[in-house]
Amino acid sequence: TAEADVEALQHADVAALLPVPGAESDKYRRGVVGVVAGSERYPGAAVLAVAGALRGGAGAVRYVGHGADAVVARFPEALVHAGPPSKAGRVQAWVVGPGLGEDADGALEDVLASDVPVLVDADGLRPLEPERVRGRDAPTLLTPHAGEAAALLGVSREEVEAGRLVAVRELAALYGATVLLKGSTTLVAPPGGAGFAVRRPVRVNPTGTPWLATAGSGDVLSGLAGALLAAGLGAMDAGSVAAYLHGLAGRLAAGGQGGDGVLGGAPVGAHDVADAVPGAWRGVV
Ligand code: AMP
Ligand code: MG
Repeated sequence: TAEADVEALQHADVAALLPVPGAESDKYRRGVVGVVAGSERYPGAAVLAVAGALRGGAGAVRYVGHGADAVVARFPEALVHAGPPSKAGRVQAWVVGPGLGEDADGALEDVLASDVPVLVDADGLRPLEPERVRGRDAPTLLTPHAGEAAALLGVSREEVEAGRLVAVRELAALYGATVLLKGSTTLVAPPGGAGFAVRRPVRVNPTGTPWLATAGSGDVLSGLAGALLAAGLGAMDAGSVAAYLHGLAGRLAAGGQGGDGVLGGAPVGAHDVADAVPGAWRGVV
């Protein structure tokens, strides 16, 4: 019914969900994130997705792809692997897609065959037929912007923009997956379709700022959500907490503290947003 169809994400909910390490923690318990991103053409996407994963609290990040040199130059703590993702060693959640370019399909297949949560973004979404997601046992989180959502649904970008709530629900039903639809207000829909009789509300993120509309911003969000998946959050919680922190980080990075974030601040790059995540995190707990 209409009144239960959407809910705003609350600060207290996010605070309760942030994974905080305890004395018994080790890097595996904090969560190992596998990142399959970047290409010779887009090496920076690899760096930004890894940045998001590290700032999101990953115990370790394993990177697979063509951007290993750039990743290690910026983040010496990253583990890099050649060969297929399935040979990279222990991973608790995969992020696949940012900047992968045309040759996303092989790595995507490999990651989808795993039994851990998978986040698919950007170039990973293009070859993603619904059947490839529906059969998975572990959660799948899709993170399209409006243009990517339109392509998956076979409609125009304008149609998605005109009915974002309908579009995110349709995608969640088509794929049987959690779907985070990015944009000025980011929406997160629980899996829908057959087998999901209970219609849980779509979550609306209140922290976004238009300063986030900058290249690479979505790559940072992917890594952040991947870290939260690896820490053990469900796909709804991982997606919505990541969007919340990402929005706060964008506001902090831009320097505008006033309310909606449009009135204050100054332009920032996506790497500045990643660097602001720890400050955003401290502001939540
Ligand atoms: P991407 O399109 O993959 O680079 O992701 C862009 C990121 O910026 C997403 O997290 C969007 O939600 C966010 N974003 C883009 N435009 C806006 C906007 N006008 N207001 C708030 N957030 C935005
Ligand atoms: Mg993107």
